[in-house]
Amino acid sequence: MGGTAAQTEGVEQNSSEMLLDTSVSDRRVGHLLERADALSRKLAGERGFIWATIGIDSTPCTMGCSFCSHGAQWQVYANEIELSVDEVVELAGKAAAGGADFITLRTTQYYGTERLIKLAGLVRDRIGNDLHLVANTGECDLDRAKALRDAGFSMAYHTVRLREGVDTGQSVAARLKTIEAICAAGLELQYLIEPLGPEHTVREVLNEARRAAEVGASGTGVMARVPVMGTPLAHLGQVSEPYLRRVAAAARLEYPDGGKYLCVHPPTPSALYCGCNTMVVEQAANPRDTSSSIGAWRGFDLATARVALQKAGLKVRPVTKEFVGI
Ligand code: SF4
Repeated sequence: MGGTAAQTEGVEQNSSEMLLDTSVSDRRVGHLLERADALSRKLAGERGFIWATIGIDSTPCTMGCSFCSHGAQWQVYANEIELSVDEVVELAGKAAAGGADFITLRTTQYYGTERLIKLAGLVRDRIGNDLHLVANTGECDLDRAKALRDAGFSMAYHTVRLREGVDTGQSVAARLKTIEAICAAGLELQYLIEPLGPEHTVREVLNEARRAAEVGASGTGVMARVPVMGTPLAHLGQVSEPYLRRVAAAARLEYPDGGKYLCVHPPTPSALYCGCNTMVVEQAANPRDTSSSIGAWRGFDLATARVALQKAGLKVRPVTKEFVGI
């Protein structure tokens, strides 16, 4: 899993390379995890953040990314769903009342711009102007990015994924073009190292950690690939929790002065002690699973996220009296 000493033999390792070298013990990198933790706490003022994602649709997607359960070719997803406008607005309202800092509308690649614009306007009306409304959708040119911004989105989630163009149906150039459009439109950008698997090298991981800083993302972090039976990469398995923590810490050390929202996904409370401060609560359609969840994915709900963040000494946004839980 990850890198080994052989990959960096003969070259003095920097802190991030040492973190990602699996022949170096956790004990020997303890001080680096602590450094990442201290940096994030200072950057974000001891705040913890909840990223609430609503998976709007599970339309079979012809992009065929080798890890995604929505890939049409894999035929693994149980049910094709698309949430109604009312359902999306309701879920967004509940997440906002429950202390989420980010409300993310996630779609498959070709979800229609007009539908997304309509949703954004209604969700923005429901959640008010104090929270981030995040678009996690397909590629954008500048016009589409501006239209999403004008509709109410304040941020977009977009990355160059690990082995883009090899394990995905998209190219690095197209992903970078979208990122450029997002930034040019004035949307904030959240950029994770993803979808991390055991086969990725130190160099591949560091390239994306550094790219988050280069593009000036307002948030960074790491998302592990969750093996979905029937998808081509499932046999490679999932990275261990200790390694996920070390990648998260490397993401912080590579971007020590920005990207204050440092996210780890799937939810890993132990990562809140080595630089992470942002946890994802997701609901409905999900590329990491074979069916849509009625409540929070794997039971990791807003209340659980709040408790984990608070236990780690991070302050969270208060819930409102309307909160009934998801
Ligand atoms: S990751 Fe996105 S683009 Fe790739 S198959 Fe899944 S929905 Fe389509």
